[in-house]
Amino acid sequence: MSASARRDPAAAPDTARLVEVRPGTQAWVQPDGSWWINNAGAVVGDGAVLVVDTCATAERTSRFLSAVDRATDGAPVRLAVNTHQHGDHTYGNSLLPTATVLLGHEAMREGLRVDPVIDGCPPFWAPVPDWGPVQRRLPDVAVTAATTVHVGGRAVQLRHPGGPAHTTGDLIAWLPDERVLFAGDLVFAGLTPLVFMGSVPGALAAVDWLAALDPEVVVPGHGPVLTGGDVDRVLDEHRRYYRLVLALGEQGLAAGRTPLETARDADLGEFGAWADAERLVLNLHRVYADRGGRAFDLMAALGDAVAWLGGPMATSV
Ligand SMILES: [Zn+2]
Repeated sequence: MSASARRDPAAAPDTARLVEVRPGTQAWVQPDGSWWINNAGAVVGDGAVLVVDTCATAERTSRFLSAVDRATDGAPVRLAVNTHQHGDHTYGNSLLPTATVLLGHEAMREGLRVDPVIDGCPPFWAPVPDWGPVQRRLPDVAVTAATTVHVGGRAVQLRHPGGPAHTTGDLIAWLPDERVLFAGDLVFAGLTPLVFMGSVPGALAAVDWLAALDPEVVVPGHGPVLTGGDVDRVLDEHRRYYRLVLALGEQGLAAGRTPLETARDADLGEFGAWADAERLVLNLHRVYADRGGRAFDLMAALGDAVAWLGGPMATSV
């Protein structure tokens, strides 16, 4: 598996770009959006900035925050929000200015508080990621209900889907005036969705919840910015993928097969070409845990994903 141990130049840190999706609304888009390579964003008001998420490594987060600084003539980052607990969206938190007030859902805050991976990534990925000089930094404000924050005259709604979806502590950042949605990892554009730390039915329901907002622009957690007809197309892909995972899980449970055995027999069909296809194994572990009423074993799930691939998962972070 030598190919999986090489970083892809097309996904190098210097390929990330700030994309102005609406005046004063920036998406930080990092190719290629696969494992640990996320999108982030910034909402720029009158002399103040709100940042949506950070990045996995110190280098990637520094590039992001420097780009925002240049684009805003050095306006202070007053507020920041984490869309969920995962390290690709949070490990860079400690590079935010000390004075920045950081918000996140209360379950997100607890998830990052006990996350062991920031202290050293297990060798499920190749090359094993090195986060660089980052420190665990938790939200100052634990969000439990729909909250609107105001930054430099801009209103940003922070909302939770109502239950587990991508994780248990997801938040979206919704700009109702501009109809721009920072979806976090409730949306993976053109890559395999990952819901093993949340809920497959919950993620499926969250797709309808997002669609009901009728966004004009969606900044996904991973993959390119979506506009126009691509929004509905990608949301429909999520519905079909989640229904496939649920159906495979039911079949596997009925046949007495393990998640790994079920994944090995599965036909991913239209989704087979998506990056990070091994997430099927992880997502099936979630279905089994929820349907079987047994505890979810994160390390066993990751070990099975590596077994399904025949080697570590590739990352270019
Ligand atoms: Zn995530």
